[in-house]
Amino acid sequence: MAKKSDEEYRAELTEMQFWVTRQGGTERPGTGIFNAHDRAGVYNCVCCKAKLFSSTEKFNAGCGWPSFADHMNNDNLRFLEDRSHGQFRTEVRCSQCDAHLGHVFDDGPTHTGQRYCINSASLDFTDESKA
Ligand SMILES: [Zn+2]
Repeated sequence: MAKKSDEEYRAELTEMQFWVTRQGGTERPGTGIFNAHDRAGVYNCVCCKAKLFSSTEKFNAGCGWPSFADHMNNDNLRFLEDRSHGQFRTEVRCSQCDAHLGHVFDDGPTHTGQRYCINSASLDFTDESKA
């Protein structure tokens, strides 16, 4: 997939989507459009539409961001060590376009033991009937 320039992303994305995905920002908890979203379907990367998460893995972690127990079984995620803010965390990015998505933690009350904490601003949603 061809890499787009920041100018192209700026033209396609909202200010919040650009800041989160291209500049590693984090939306304020509870403000994202997918936080309390429970429709059946697939969550895609907002920048390149790569399929990332299924609604069947979404759960309410009470943290204010869309949370998933697992990602879709594909190569569309990549993981980076993040030592910012004096913490040790694992950053999650889209492997197709390098968009920042959020972080994954090992404290999930889930079948995987993991909690993918993802910004709504990084996601786009496709209804199950259209997926
Ligand atoms: Zn992407």
